[in-house]
Amino acid sequence: MNTVAAYFRQIPRAVLVAVAAAVGLAVLVRQRLTRFDAETEAKLAQLTPAARAKFRTFLEAARERGWQVVFVSGYRTYAQQAALHAANPRNAAAPGHSSHETREAGDLNFIHSRTGAELRKGTSKIRWQASGLVYDAAAAGLTWGGPFGDNNHFSARS
Ligand SMILES: [Zn+2]
Repeated sequence: MNTVAAYFRQIPRAVLVAVAAAVGLAVLVRQRLTRFDAETEAKLAQLTPAARAKFRTFLEAARERGWQVVFVSGYRTYAQQAALHAANPRNAAAPGHSSHETREAGDLNFIHSRTGAELRKGTSKIRWQASGLVYDAAAAGLTWGGPFGDNNHFSARS
């Protein structure tokens, strides 16, 4: 007889059901609290651990308000930053001077799951502030780029 099967057969069924239920619940809670779409998770994974924790806190608060994130840009290499800056100097900091290069920043658009409202770089500061997201970002320890004219930029640099 298979020894593994024999081992499980001696455990009362109620115990197995309870363990399976607990594991299932833990997985559901973890998904609800921490999982975002694959693109967002990939961008989060490239940030520093400290920045990642702040962005997760922010994005969870945003989700509570019904805002779904579109993670436009996170970590950038020096070369990527240089290319962006060369294409439009007013739109991106000079290479060597961006918190994207130090894995501390994210450019985030949002879409509201109920109203369909969108928040982007070009969306007015007033609308960003009215969304509650500027408050949530600050509460999570992030600095908003709005005061610098960069409305969808958030930085964990302190
Ligand atoms: Zn940015």
